[in-house]
Amino acid sequence: MEPDRLVTGVASVDRLLGGGLETDSVTEIYGEGGSGKTLFCLDVAVRVARSGKWVFYVDTEGVSVDRLHAIAGNELDRILKRFLLSSPKELDEQGRAVATACALAREGKRPVGLIVVDSATMFYRLSLSSSDEDTARQSLVLEVADLVATALAVPVPVLITNQVWRSVSEGTLEPLGGSFLNHAAKTILRFERLPGPRRRVVLVKHRSLPEGSAEFRITSSGLEGSG
Ligand code: ATP
Ligand code: MG
Repeated sequence: MEPDRLVTGVASVDRLLGGGLETDSVTEIYGEGGSGKTLFCLDVAVRVARSGKWVFYVDTEGVSVDRLHAIAGNELDRILKRFLLSSPKELDEQGRAVATACALAREGKRPVGLIVVDSATMFYRLSLSSSDEDTARQSLVLEVADLVATALAVPVPVLITNQVWRSVSEGTLEPLGGSFLNHAAKTILRFERLPGPRRRVVLVKHRSLPEGSAEFRITSSGLEGSG
């Protein structure tokens, strides 16, 4: 039997993912700044909220209400009623926000259709090479373990974004968070910038699909992926 999928609405990405995001596991998107990670999360989140389900959205970057408005149009107010948005300003707050989102999703009082953590690693990155690095790593591990367990238990798709570091020896952009994150996320996508509004999505890891790639375009009203 085919597992359930959450259709993202970006046709090329849905095809790449065999229909959409897995609904019982964590999907990780990593990629350089401006590669479209946040815009993709917002697009999917609006789609879920529009369908009447709740979105628990942990945002460490300052979500763009202008962009939400551009995607949601005159449905914005109705859609925001289905958004439980938290905007932590430091690592401990992020930990509490993720724990709350997971607890509410498991509680089941609100039908939750998506959990987003964008970005999961911003505060973690800030702690690297400081005396807080071990604490930050531990906090990230606990959060991601909670998200993995929640995705499976509810079940609910979980979308997290991750920042990158440049491997000088390999000349590649690598995701932060090391092997733990790499194992915890059952689907991993890398977003890459192409000229202009074009972006490439590379399927780096999936439980049941081969590696592959797709493209989408950023437009003023949402992401388009016909190719
Ligand atoms: P970061 O790692 O910095 O958070 P990100 O991967 O989340 O980056 P986004 O914020 O999703 O990136 O994407 C921003 C990119 O989208 C920028 O490169 C911006 O130029 C582009 N962009 C935003 N709006 C439009 C638009 N209407 N048309 C074309 N490109 C756009
Ligand atoms: Mg972003």
